Amino acid sequence: MTGRKVLMGFDVTADSHTLAAYRARGGYEALARALESMQPEDVTQEIVDSGIQGRGGAAFPAGRKWQGIDPHDGQPHYLIANADEGEPGTFKDRWVLEHDPHALLESMLLASYALGVRHAFVYIRGEYDRPWRRVAAAVEEAYAEGLFGENILGSGFSCDLVVFRGAGAYVCGEASSLLGSIEGTRAYPRNRPPRMTVRGLYQAPTVVNNVETLASVAWIIRNGAQAFRKIGTEKSPGTRLISVSGHIRNPGVYEVELGYSWAKFLHEDCGGLLCNKALKAVIPGGISSQVLTGKDAKVLTPGEVEGLTLDHEILRAAGSSLGSGGMIVIAEGTCMVRLLQIMLRFYRHESCGQCTPCREGTGWMHRVIDRIVAGEGRPEDIDTLYHVARFNDGTTICGLGDAAGYAATAMLDNFRDEFEYFIEHKRSKFGGNLECQ
Ligand code: SF4
Repeated sequence: MTGRKVLMGFDVTADSHTLAAYRARGGYEALARALESMQPEDVTQEIVDSGIQGRGGAAFPAGRKWQGIDPHDGQPHYLIANADEGEPGTFKDRWVLEHDPHALLESMLLASYALGVRHAFVYIRGEYDRPWRRVAAAVEEAYAEGLFGENILGSGFSCDLVVFRGAGAYVCGEASSLLGSIEGTRAYPRNRPPRMTVRGLYQAPTVVNNVETLASVAWIIRNGAQAFRKIGTEKSPGTRLISVSGHIRNPGVYEVELGYSWAKFLHEDCGGLLCNKALKAVIPGGISSQVLTGKDAKVLTPGEVEGLTLDHEILRAAGSSLGSGGMIVIAEGTCMVRLLQIMLRFYRHESCGQCTPCREGTGWMHRVIDRIVAGEGRPEDIDTLYHVARFNDGTTICGLGDAAGYAATAMLDNFRDEFEYFIEHKRSKFGGNLECQ
């Protein structure tokens, strides 16, 4: 039992994703109440008071982001649900999209009302076929019942929603990048400032929120900000969806009350490690979660996991973060050199090429790690990896360049002996093993 629930508090059945089932759970009551008795600012204030932090990776207070938009300024505004969930190890938003799409839609209507949005978008990753079909079907159901379109529930509020499928580029999960994808230009991440709440989609003020963040809005408006604050910890209220993968007995998506014991979560709720192996490391929040502070790349070691709780502040203080909620569990006997090779291959492949340090640096690091794994490593390769990784730090437009560097330095800091062994003996200390055997 991972604590109280905000999103997963119902049984998944063959039709629990439908509008009828959602209504039976009290769905769309918060929307009706808000349109009848709340001003847009009241909805925003409720989100501010709830203290909910973004669930996509940066943990920025969602209410503060919303306060960046004046719903009455007469400009067009846009809302985008970022469903381009491509961070390795992360598949928690998929659960919402497949099993509770109406929670997302009701929440987007509430957010659109609060922000003065007439057109909202769900930007969904191209590979997510079933989630896309579920969301598209939910949108049709909602339109058929007058929950989107003109004069919703007779309130005078109108909102349309477009489901936009990405084409498979990881970088489009970066909020400013997906703007270009929707606009039909090359999806390059954009420099900030200006913030997207000043100049976003089609140059208009825009809020981009993660799916899980947005989907929680209906619960908060239905139950009140104070009820939300009673869940979790004082500084990290609410719950997090965590997708667990790697060397774990029961991989999947869990809803965890913030402040929950990490050791209990791994060893009891997730059934412990495969093959009765000891824990070697955990990458807590997707392989790029580290970009938050620069220190966050640290891979937690078993000793550090014991005693930790799952909440933003404690993990940050421990030099890590909950990031995108994609937890990767790594058992003893895993070759961290091979693991880093896979991570660097990913970053190199997904770099959009806009910034020289990222474009060249990810390629360079990948070539060096390939050389080490091929048994042709040189003693100076470790220093070269450090040098290139640090050269990326803070010199790129989006976080991908930083993340690639942090991944390398984290592995080298924590498992340097494995890299030295590989270079000296021209083979892995653990037989290049990535499986749990
Ligand atoms: Fe593109 Fe990399 Fe620069 Fe991000 S850091 S904008 S992915 S080149």
